[in-house]
Amino acid sequence: MDLYEYQARNMFAAHDVPVLPGIVITSTEEARDAARTLFDGGASLLVVKAQVKTGGRGKAGGVKLATSVEEAEEKASQILGMDIKGHIVRKVLIASAADIAAEYYFSILLDRSNRRHLAMCSREGGMEIEALAVERPEALAKVPLQAGVGITDEVARDILSAARFTPEEQDSIAPILVKLWDVYSREDATLVEVNPLVSTPDGEIIALDGKVSLDDNAAFRHPEHVELADITAEDPREAMAKAEGLNYVRLEGEVGIIGNGAGLVMSTLDVVAMAGEDLGVHPANFLDIGGGASAAVMAKGLDVILGDEQVRSVFVNVFGGITACDEVAKGILGALELLGDAATKPLVVRLDGNKVTEGRAILEEAAHPLVHLDPTMDGAARRAAELAAAEKAAAK
Ligand code: GDP
Ligand code: MN
Repeated sequence: MDLYEYQARNMFAAHDVPVLPGIVITSTEEARDAARTLFDGGASLLVVKAQVKTGGRGKAGGVKLATSVEEAEEKASQILGMDIKGHIVRKVLIASAADIAAEYYFSILLDRSNRRHLAMCSREGGMEIEALAVERPEALAKVPLQAGVGITDEVARDILSAARFTPEEQDSIAPILVKLWDVYSREDATLVEVNPLVSTPDGEIIALDGKVSLDDNAAFRHPEHVELADITAEDPREAMAKAEGLNYVRLEGEVGIIGNGAGLVMSTLDVVAMAGEDLGVHPANFLDIGGGASAAVMAKGLDVILGDEQVRSVFVNVFGGITACDEVAKGILGALELLGDAATKPLVVRLDGNKVTEGRAILEEAAHPLVHLDPTMDGAARRAAELAAAEKAAAK
C-alpha cells in the first residue's frame, strides 16, 4: 500500500523525523480555515500541495506557495480537481512552507533483485531521482544495508560521506537518517523516500516531501495501518474480498473466474480471454481461493463474483490436490445453498485431479439447474464465454 504524502508526514512525525505542520482539506472553504490556522500558529509562508499517489506534482503545477489566506484559498481551488498523470486531486495539503537553503535526496528501499535493503542519498535533491540516476550517477550514493543493523549513527555517517556531505552536515543529518530507518523497519515499509530533505538557512533539517510504501504482507502486524487505506479509491468489490481474506482483482469483463492456485487462475484468465475474443466477452476478475477450497471459502468467493453486476457467467476451475474434488463439489453445492436466490448466473465447473470421478458424480447427481459440468479447461472456458455472450445478448 502506497501512502499519501500527508500520511507519510504524519508517520515521520510519529517517529520524530522533523516535518512542518500541515492540514488536509477537500474544499476551498476548508482551505481558508486551514490557512488561517497555520498563519495564526506562526507560519509566514504556506505551501499548497496536491495529494495524489504519483510523483512530479511540482512540475505539474500541483505544488504552490502562498503568502496570504486569500492566496492559499485561490491556489487550493486551482489544485482541487486537477488531473495529475490521470490522478484527480481530491485532497490538498496546506502546510507551513520551509525557507530552503539546499535540497537533498534520501531513501531506503527493499532492493529485491539483490535481496537486501538499500539506502540512496544525494546532495542534489528536488529533481526526479530517476533522472539523476541516469544523468549524474556519481552524485547518487547507494549504500547496501544489513537488515540486522539497519542505520545506526555510524552507518548514517557512512551513507552521508559516500554522498560527499561535510562532517558538520553529517552531524545534523545523521540522526534523521537513523529515525527514517525506524520508520522503514518498525512500520514494515518497502520504501521510505524523502525528496527533498531540506536544510534551512539556520541549518535545520526538515523532511519536506514523503513517499512511503508499506509491505501488505506485514499488515497483520499493524492493525493501526487499516485506517491508512484509501477506501474511496478502492473498488467496493475488492474491499469486500479483502475483508474476507480473498485474493481478488476486479477486471472489466463478463466471465467471473474462480480457481485454486494463482498459476491456475492466471491461465484460466488466458483461456477465457481467448475463448471470448470472437464473442466479445472477457474475464471479469481474478479470484484465487487458495489450496483449502472449503464450502465456506467457495461461498464467499461466489458471493463476491455473483454480486458483480457486470458478471454474466462464472467459470469455476479447480484442480484437486490437498483438497480433493469431492470436497470441492460439496463446497460448490454448499455455496449455492448458502447463497439461495442470490445465485442466478450459470456456473461452468471444471474439476480435475484428486478424486475427480467422485467430485463429478456428486455434481451430476445434484443436477443443480445453474451448474454445467465440463471435463476440460478449454471446453469449459468456451462454454462459460458462450453463456456470458448469450446472457449479454438477451439483456440487450
Ligand atoms: P513533488 O514534485 O511531487 O516531488 O513535490 P515536492 O513536495 O517534492 O515539491 C516540489 C518542489 O516544490 C520542491 O522540490 C521544492 O523546490 C518546492 N517546495 C515544496 N515545498 C516547499 C516549501 O515548503 N518551501 C519552498 N520554498 N519550496 C517548496
Ligand atoms: Mn518530491
